[in-house]
Amino acid sequence: MRIQHLMSVILFIVVGQLYAQDKENNEDAKTEKSSDKKEKASKIKTYDDIITKDAITDKGLFDVHKVDENYFYEIPDSLFGREMLVVTRIAKTASGIGFGGGKQNTQVLRWEKRSKKVLLRVVSHQIIAADSLPIHEAVVNSNFEPILYRFDVKTVGKDSTSTLIQVNKFLEGDVKAMGFPASRRKTYKISGLDKTRSFIESIKSYPLNVEMRHVKTYNSSEPPSNASTGSVSLEMNNSMILLPKEQMKRRYFDQRVGWFARDQVNYGLDVQESKTIRYLDRWRLEIAPEDIEKFERGELVEPVKPIVYYIDRATPKKWRKYLKQGIEDWQIAFEAAGFKNAILAKDPPTPEEDPDWSPEDVRYSVVRYLASPIPNANGPHVSDPRSGEILESDINWYHNVMTLLRNWFFVQTAAINPEAQSIAFKDEIMGRLIRFVSAHEVGHTIGLPHNMGSSVAYPVDSLRSVSFTQKYGTAPSIMDYARFNYVAQPGDGDVSLMPDIGPYDIHAVRWGYRPIPSVEKAEDEKPILDQWIRDKEDDPMYRFGRQQFGVVDPSSQTEDLGDDAIKASAYGIANLKRIVPKLIEWTAEDGKNFDDLETLYGQVYSQ
Ligand SMILES: [Zn+2]
Repeated sequence: MRIQHLMSVILFIVVGQLYAQDKENNEDAKTEKSSDKKEKASKIKTYDDIITKDAITDKGLFDVHKVDENYFYEIPDSLFGREMLVVTRIAKTASGIGFGGGKQNTQVLRWEKRSKKVLLRVVSHQIIAADSLPIHEAVVNSNFEPILYRFDVKTVGKDSTSTLIQVNKFLEGDVKAMGFPASRRKTYKISGLDKTRSFIESIKSYPLNVEMRHVKTYNSSEPPSNASTGSVSLEMNNSMILLPKEQMKRRYFDQRVGWFARDQVNYGLDVQESKTIRYLDRWRLEIAPEDIEKFERGELVEPVKPIVYYIDRATPKKWRKYLKQGIEDWQIAFEAAGFKNAILAKDPPTPEEDPDWSPEDVRYSVVRYLASPIPNANGPHVSDPRSGEILESDINWYHNVMTLLRNWFFVQTAAINPEAQSIAFKDEIMGRLIRFVSAHEVGHTIGLPHNMGSSVAYPVDSLRSVSFTQKYGTAPSIMDYARFNYVAQPGDGDVSLMPDIGPYDIHAVRWGYRPIPSVEKAEDEKPILDQWIRDKEDDPMYRFGRQQFGVVDPSSQTEDLGDDAIKASAYGIANLKRIVPKLIEWTAEDGKNFDDLETLYGQVYSQ
C-alpha cells in the first residue's frame, strides 16, 4: 500500500512538472505552432481533393479512378487480408518472343494495411503443414511473406470503409513480377527498363478482378527483332483475381488417370520426409443441399453453378453452332459424374443487353476467335492454387485452325472420302471438324491432358469396321493425338473418321468430378477413388498414357492409330498412293496457279 501511494505521488509530480513546462513555452510557440498546423492540415488531402470531379471511375473489385494520367485504387477495407491471384501475360509483343497471350507468371498476393502504408505481399502455397500441427509454426516462419511493393495511403474513402492508393509508380516502374519475367531477361540481354518509353495503357475493374495493361520498354543488347532499336517493347497484362473465401474441396491426383494437377510440399504428413502432394485442377461442381438425397439415389442433378462457355462475338456466325456442339458434347461425361446440364455453351449478351459484359471479366469463360495466322487452338485455364478450383478458362481459337483441319482431313481421309477430295470443304464438313477440335480443347479446360496411350486400345482392323467405329469412334479418348481414320480402305463403307468423347474421357470426368458427399475430407476419398480405377484396370480402353517428349513407351505415341503402328501405317501408305495420282484433279481450279497443289503435295510428303 505504502509503496503504491509513493509511486502515485511521484507520478503526479512528474506530470505536474511537464504540464508547467509546457505552459511556460506555450506563449512563445503559439504563433509558430498554429502555422505548422495549417501546413500539416493542407498536406492531408481529402477524398475530393484527390478524386476530383474530372475523375473517370470504373467500379468493380477495387474502384479504379483515373485523374489525368494518375491511377488510384480504392481498396475496400474488407479486402485487406484476402488472397488474390495475379496472372501476368504478354498481351502484345514483337515477333520472336512468343505469341500474345502467353502466361509468364502466376502469384498469390495479399494486400495488407499498416497505418499509413499499404503493403502488397507475396503468399506461397507451395509449402504447407496443417495449422494444428507443431511444425506449422516452422513452416510459417520459413515462409515469411516477401513484400512486393509498398504504397502510401493517399486518403480514405468517403464513408471511411476504403483506402486510396496511387499505382502509377508500381505499374510504370520495373516491378519484375508484374513485367517481363527476370528468368527470360537474360535471353535478350535486357539491362533495365526505359521509363520514358513505359506507361499504363489501361486499368479496368470487374466485380471479381482488376485488369491492368501497361507498355514496357526494356533496353536490350540482343532484341528478338528490330535489332536497331536496342530495345524490346511489350504490352503486359496483369489479371488480379479475388480468390474464393471458401476453398473448394480438393481431389487428390492419381497417375493412373490423366489430369492437370498441381504440387504442394506438405511437411505435416506422418512420414519422415516432406512429401509432395498433388491435386486436380477442376471446376467447382457442387450438389445443392436439397439435391443430395436425389444424387445418392442415383438421379442426375443440376450443379449449383454450371460451367458456361461463351462464344466470342467475333466468331463467324456459321461456325458458332459447331463450337457450341463441341462444348456440350461433354455433357455425357458429366452425366457419368452425376450432373445434368453441367456444361453449357451460350452467346454473350449484346452490348445493348449488357454494356459491361467483357471476355476480360473473370466470371466469364470465352471461346475467343482470333484473327491470327497461327494454325492452332489452345485451352489454358486459371485455377486457385490452394484447392485447384478452375476459376476461368478462355479457349483461343485461331482462324487458321481451319487450314490445319483441311490439310489433315484431306491427306488422311481423301482416299475413301469424297467430301475431302477438294481444297474447300462444304460448311457442314468443316463444321464437323470444328466440333471435333472444340471438344478436344474443352477437354483441356476441364482438366484433361493429352492421353497418348488411348488409340492403342483398338485393334487396327476394327478401325475398318462400320459397326465398331460408329459405336466407339476411332480411339477411346478425344484427348489423344489420334489422327483422322487413315486406316479405313476404299469399300469399308461408312466408317467413323474421328474420335468422339469416348469411354476413357467419360471415365476420367467421372473419376475427377463425381462428388463423394459421404466423405468429408479429401484425404479420405482415396480408397474410393482407387476402387473406381481398379474397377477398370484390366481394360485397355481406360488406360492413360502420358504425353512423352522423347518417346520411350511405344504405345503412347502421337499420330498413331490402333494397336499395331506398322500395320496401320501400311494402310495409311496404301491410301497416300491412291491420293497422289488424283492430287492435280482435286486441287486445280481454272484461273488459279498450283499453290494448293504444292501445299497438299507437301502434306502427303510429310505424313
Ligand atoms: Zn490438345
